[in-house]
Amino acid sequence: MKKKIAILGSTGSIGKSLINIVKKDKKNFDTILLTADKNYKELFKQAKILNVKNLIITDEKSYLELKKKKLNKIKIFNNYNDFNIIFKKKIDYVMSAISGIYGLEPTVKIIKHTKKIAIANKESIICGWHLIKKNLKQYNTSFIPVDSEHFSIFYSLGINKISNIDKIFLTASGGPLNNIPKSKFKAVEISEVIKHPNWNMGKKISVDSATMMNKVFEIIEAKKIFNLKYEQLDILVHPSSYVHAITKFNDGMIKIIAHDTDMKIPIFNSLYDSHVKTIKTDQLNIKKLNFLNFKKVDTRKFPSIKMIKKLHNKETLLETIIVLANDELVNLFLLKKIDFTDIFILLQRLINMKEFKIYYYKKPGNIDSIISLKTLIKKKINKMIN
Ligand code: NDP
Ligand code: MG
Repeated sequence: MKKKIAILGSTGSIGKSLINIVKKDKKNFDTILLTADKNYKELFKQAKILNVKNLIITDEKSYLELKKKKLNKIKIFNNYNDFNIIFKKKIDYVMSAISGIYGLEPTVKIIKHTKKIAIANKESIICGWHLIKKNLKQYNTSFIPVDSEHFSIFYSLGINKISNIDKIFLTASGGPLNNIPKSKFKAVEISEVIKHPNWNMGKKISVDSATMMNKVFEIIEAKKIFNLKYEQLDILVHPSSYVHAITKFNDGMIKIIAHDTDMKIPIFNSLYDSHVKTIKTDQLNIKKLNFLNFKKVDTRKFPSIKMIKKLHNKETLLETIIVLANDELVNLFLLKKIDFTDIFILLQRLINMKEFKIYYYKKPGNIDSIISLKTLIKKKINKMIN
């Protein structure tokens, strides 16, 4: 029987990678829903290729443009509440790959409609893990992390329980600016910042990779997903990105997980049960294995990493504020309104503001309360840059 699937954020880098896999195995998949924000042309193209009957497009203008197309039997929606109309019963698999905090609402809401959810959208894990975890349990839905480091840890667990983990090291390529001296950071161009040496990713995550904020987010992600303490997590710079995570267990064993530097591997494995299908990958790369070259992060060059020291093990809104403020600042950088180095300077200034400190003792609440913080942060940042 065909597996019924849905992709949130199908027009993005992760979404397209998954579409490429499904396209080659059409006879085994029935794609029930695809979503995008603005890119209605790509969404429509994907719908035709995979014969998809439901599309959600959130940007109002793009929604109206899409409705003008010759749609045949394709239904167009622009609201995640329409999941209740689209899904008559539980489907088999959902990929959550919207970028940014707007991935939170659909991720939380779609859990009850699927047997399995693969989540790439790190913002929803960081800001809304308490909501995701609750729904996974309530609706008996299984979860697979897609971020390569987290997928590697998940894979390395095997028969081991999480309680057997002593320490986890996430690897970091060092990002697009690893070989550029810090003195040049202020004037660095957007094109240099989003040109990642190893990965082909969306713009937002590429900037986070350059500031290394992405690793701060991945530490938080790992802490939440695997229910660890921050003391159990660390980062190692590993420029070739061949190894994704190293898990040291309490019994003394260490698992080093490597795979080709291509997101199609975690995506493929989240979709298929790994024993039923084979993916074409490169031969074992001995050259890379002989030159793993692990290093500690240079926190003077990448001060964002120091943000980890501010985090505490209790669940509070601090992580949410970091994500939302960073989202806004990266956006301003991409709009050429601030310099690259301003991202961290302004982020730090905002985190230290008196009015935000109350949130660092508050537990995160529902989706609306998390999203409403975004408006407050945006206002503050606009005031700071003006
Ligand atoms: P992209 O920017 O390439 O794609 C984002 C997708 O989300 C697009 O489909 C986009 O639609 C949609 N989208 C953007 N904004 C909104 C919004 N406000 N409402 C609804 N949909 C929206 O991102 P990536 O694929 O690179 O990343 C997706 C997520 O996965 C991120 O959270 C990222 O951190 C995470 N991730 C990505 C990795 C990668 O290799 N790319 C690796 C690990 C994690 P449209 O095209 O219409 O704008
Ligand atoms: Mg990653």
